[in-house]
Amino acid sequence: MALAFGTDLSGKVAVVTGAGGVLCGMFARTLAQAGAKVAVLDLNEQAAKEIADSIEKEGFTAKAYKANVLERSSLEEVHASILAELGPCDILINGAGGNNARANTDKEYFEMGDIEADVKSFFDLDQSGVEFVFNLNFLGTLLPCQIFAKDMIGREGCSILNISSMNAFTPLTKIPAYSGAKAAISNFTQWLAVHFSKVGIRVNAIAPGFFVTQQNEKLLFHEDGSPTPRTEKILSATPMGRFGDAIELNGALLFFLNQEAASFITGVVLPIDGGFSAYSGV
Ligand code: NAD
Repeated sequence: MALAFGTDLSGKVAVVTGAGGVLCGMFARTLAQAGAKVAVLDLNEQAAKEIADSIEKEGFTAKAYKANVLERSSLEEVHASILAELGPCDILINGAGGNNARANTDKEYFEMGDIEADVKSFFDLDQSGVEFVFNLNFLGTLLPCQIFAKDMIGREGCSILNISSMNAFTPLTKIPAYSGAKAAISNFTQWLAVHFSKVGIRVNAIAPGFFVTQQNEKLLFHEDGSPTPRTEKILSATPMGRFGDAIELNGALLFFLNQEAASFITGVVLPIDGGFSAYSGV
């Protein structure tokens, strides 16, 4: 019996959205090192280019594409280029996502007097901010699945990996739209796994705990680098007592994409969180 686990993605084409960012830039590099030809997609063309160039410099295959996960026409255009330049998509990582301050409350708890006070309470949440966050995370996952999963139908070993979050299990304070949108991603992961189960496309998600990246850095550290009260709360609620290092997501990434190791796994959302989601706080 061959022992599972040395993920060889040679000959596969992997499409990674949000790959100009911290976590998905690393995913793109990891997939390329495992042998995949990687399409590095991001709204930020420069960021995508820098990641793809650095992967190519290391001797692996990656190509940058400017793409907006919220625009079908942009995805269709990029899909056509990827088909011509790399081939049909075998692996889709839906990484583009994030929060926006317009959809956050200032305080954790609503208190008497907040309506009159100069604080942004639940009642002041900006509709367009909430829509932006919902669309970026949920629609920005669904649309790329519509465009790229068509390539996977009837082909062996294809799979989709979505990025959920801790706040999908229990919402984090202050960020109702991001929490709801990530819960929608977990739910959609299960839905799509069932929907595609007869055509051999596995659909799973990872739910990272807390990793410092450009989208949350300002919430976690003051300008002088000292931790904010939120950082102190996060770390005290994380049994392992530290932030994750992006590299610690790689094992799960490669596991889910490994057709031998994870052949019977679909519709799963895996926390990678140093114990955060298991800890009641007591
Ligand atoms: P990041 O901000 O470094 O990367 C996100 C990338 O998405 C950016 O490069 C951005 O340009 C791109 N993007 C934004 N809008 C886009 C659009 N419309 N079309 C295409 N690309 C777009 O953030 P990150 O922390 O690396 O986040 C990656 C994913 O992981 C996100 O879905 C995020 O919600 C999720 N996540 C992050 C953490 C964390 O602790 N950092 C925890 C849980 C989940």
